[in-house]
Amino acid sequence: MNGIGWHKPKRLWNRLVAKSLGTVTGVETGAAAVALTFDDGPDPDSTVRLAEALEKHGARGTFFVVGRSARRYPELLERLAGGGHAIGNHSWGHRSFPTLSSRQRRKQIRLCEKAIRPYGSKIFRPPFGHQDLRSRFDLLLAGYKVVTWSFLAEDWLDLDAGRILAKIEAKIRPGSIILLHDALFAYLDRKYTDRSATVEAVEELLERRGRSYDFVTVPQLLAMGKPRMVDWRRLPDRKWMKKLNQAENRQPF
Ligand SMILES: [Zn+2]
Repeated sequence: MNGIGWHKPKRLWNRLVAKSLGTVTGVETGAAAVALTFDDGPDPDSTVRLAEALEKHGARGTFFVVGRSARRYPELLERLAGGGHAIGNHSWGHRSFPTLSSRQRRKQIRLCEKAIRPYGSKIFRPPFGHQDLRSRFDLLLAGYKVVTWSFLAEDWLDLDAGRILAKIEAKIRPGSIILLHDALFAYLDRKYTDRSATVEAVEELLERRGRSYDFVTVPQLLAMGKPRMVDWRRLPDRKWMKKLNQAENRQPF
């Protein structure tokens, strides 16, 4: 026995998992195009400022909104859709999916889907990036493509616009999907909720790179090449989640 018999089914399984249960982290494309994505909104101030900045440069963004906020601000969804931006599902209440039952997860998906109707695309961003095989499977059954990111700019921390911009500039490539936040649904300190550094960084990025890159929505980027799929599994750090919950920093509703 040479052991090859063990590797074959494993490779086949990996390919199957990547294909049906894979998570999109970018797109292989020859086009100089990238997707800016904004999570946790909509927010009456920063979402509008970002939409305006994008449109000024002929750019489009993708907004993964939290259902509870979306229901509160339906006019913002209309505003985004009217500007040609894409709207994705970021769950109803931003709970870490691996900590929920399948029934709770399906409810989180469904309620957000309802709140973003008729503008929502069938793309889902897992809250906190947390995902296990079971939560991924629930999204497959709900007909969603799960989209995470190529890299992040850590704009949920107290970084200034220059630091956020430097992080993006260091890693931006054709086909990148970049994670930013137009609001913060959960946070350790209120000072992090100020989004002006993110808005400023995006304005500067578009100013500098608006000519070398097409800033498109995630569905547009997906149509330009082959999605980079990974077997994305991330479990919550219990200690950190506990700290977050104790901080009682959920936005009031
Ligand atoms: Zn989020």
